[in-house]
Amino acid sequence: MSRSTSIRARRIAGNGALAVVAAAALTAVLGGCRPAVRPPVNVVLVSIDTLRADRLGCYGGTTVETPAIDSLSNAGVRFQNAFTPVPLTLPAHWTILTGVEPWHHGVVDNGMTLPKPPAATLAERFADAGYDTAAFVSAFVLHRTFGLDRGFARYDDGPAADAVLDELMHASAPADERVDRALAWLRRERKRPFFVWLHLFDPHAPYVPPPGFRARYSGRPYDGEVAFVDTQVARLLAALERSGIADRTLVVLLSDHAESLGEHGEETHGLLLYDATLRVPLLFRLPGTLGAGEVRPEAVTLADVAPTILALTGLPATPGVDGRDLFGPAASPLRQLGAVSQAPVRRFGWASLTAVREAGWKFIAAPRSELYRIADDPAELVDRRASDPDRAVGLARAARGIEATLNARLAARGTVEPGSEALARLSALGYVSGPASTASAPPDPKDAIRSMGELDRAYQLFAEGRLDEAQASLNALLARSDFPPSTVLEGLGRLARLRGDAAEAEKLFLQMIAQDPEALGPLAQLVRLARERGDRGAEVERARRLVALAPADGGAARLLAEALLGAGDSAGAEEEYRRGLKVAPRSGWLRLGLARLLVATRRGDEADRELEKITSDEDLPGDVIAEARTLRSRPAR
Ligand SMILES: [Zn+2]
Repeated sequence: MSRSTSIRARRIAGNGALAVVAAAALTAVLGGCRPAVRPPVNVVLVSIDTLRADRLGCYGGTTVETPAIDSLSNAGVRFQNAFTPVPLTLPAHWTILTGVEPWHHGVVDNGMTLPKPPAATLAERFADAGYDTAAFVSAFVLHRTFGLDRGFARYDDGPAADAVLDELMHASAPADERVDRALAWLRRERKRPFFVWLHLFDPHAPYVPPPGFRARYSGRPYDGEVAFVDTQVARLLAALERSGIADRTLVVLLSDHAESLGEHGEETHGLLLYDATLRVPLLFRLPGTLGAGEVRPEAVTLADVAPTILALTGLPATPGVDGRDLFGPAASPLRQLGAVSQAPVRRFGWASLTAVREAGWKFIAAPRSELYRIADDPAELVDRRASDPDRAVGLARAARGIEATLNARLAARGTVEPGSEALARLSALGYVSGPASTASAPPDPKDAIRSMGELDRAYQLFAEGRLDEAQASLNALLARSDFPPSTVLEGLGRLARLRGDAAEAEKLFLQMIAQDPEALGPLAQLVRLARERGDRGAEVERARRLVALAPADGGAARLLAEALLGAGDSAGAEEEYRRGLKVAPRSGWLRLGLARLLVATRRGDEADRELEKITSDEDLPGDVIAEARTLRSRPAR
């Protein structure tokens, strides 16, 4: 009780210093029904994908320099034991932005969409309260197709908009580019408070830090990515400071899930439910309201983030959510926190997992369940089921309750599975492999995970340019029976292409098509292979097949239009560009292609209109906008 009173007192004390801001406007927005006028607090939510708390200095890390995030912690409140309820990007962000746990919202894998969200998102709440809202996301998994753009006046998923069927590395944007865009938006004149969500993706696999960081963290590319992303957080914090609004801006920094880095046999994240991937950093800074350098030890969930942000900005709680205001009255010491993992069954036909933690203990329900006393065994190494069977039984019951709730939610078809185009893009990112056929009982993910780890390691070697090692690793996987080979074949095909062995690449991608005639990724690769060897007929034929399979896909339309252009069918190409833009109007590359064709056929005015559409859409990728500007400025048209 006393701590919540003291926070309230400090919050009110802060009002005087903030009287200069447009409090009147906010009173009008809030309808004047609140007892006290609170200062309009801006909100900056930074989610750093795949960030382990223990890499940060403020969480005791010693191997990576993270001065910016540490300074944020020193000036604010650090939650020492924060956990994600699901170790996957899209499901976790649904929880972060709504305060609803995954077993209630039902998004348990990347690529799923919700026809009707279970609660208003933070962006919707802030938009309703008169805030200016914007999001800058870095990866295709958070593309607007998947619904998190709700309530955002601006949703910049630019780097992903054209990622369709493109190469693995092109589907996400680096933190410096994203921070550039967010800063440009923050610099705008505005009379209203703002809510901005910045999602940075760099620590996500494969780890390829910028050259300076690669050298400084040689042999530790993940750490290099973390150090780099910290320098970009530094730019953001410095800009807030320079603009004089840091004192009335709530900054929240967290991760959607962490990264296992080999612990328990998992290389990345998304399948197992150990704290190697569930534990995340969680920091709140609001000068004058929150204590500086405060450390909170209790276990909290990412579902608590939205209710806490709303409370700190003086907005009423969203009804019906699972999370709680972390600066409100203390929670029960027996509060139970859950976590779910459905990706093992959905992607590989393995068993699903459910975890429950309570008062320093954690139970993981699995074909071979586990009980850990995480208070003194944080690495989850000693299974205590035999020594504490009663506790195991009690927590198992709680886990079954979560499973039943989730199964009911999924059975009610509250979520929609991704369409084939979205699946193809996610597959190109290594997210979806398609369920393997399961003979008898589904394997326990902690046993089956080893082959997945080998695949992750192969892709990391690939990204580092260590092609021989990547090849050996993929070949070893190909020889195993417990792994769906399509992902392996795709990796081998890409490797062959990279090495210039077109015949081998062709053979591997054709093999994938034989397995799954509707697979888009390998077909797109086959279009490119035909182009590279100058076989225009095959290129057009394959691209037509691709468009027939994915008629609404801008990337497919672009491949067909370019194929037709290469074959000398300029009219056909123009028709395809225009058809593609009807179904994918935000495809910058498609529009750029049409503009080039119009320039080439001496229709400068028409070309200018298309180029204008590109240069005025600030969410499009920077290189598309730059090319459009160059093309416009060229005099001889
Ligand atoms: Zn993520």
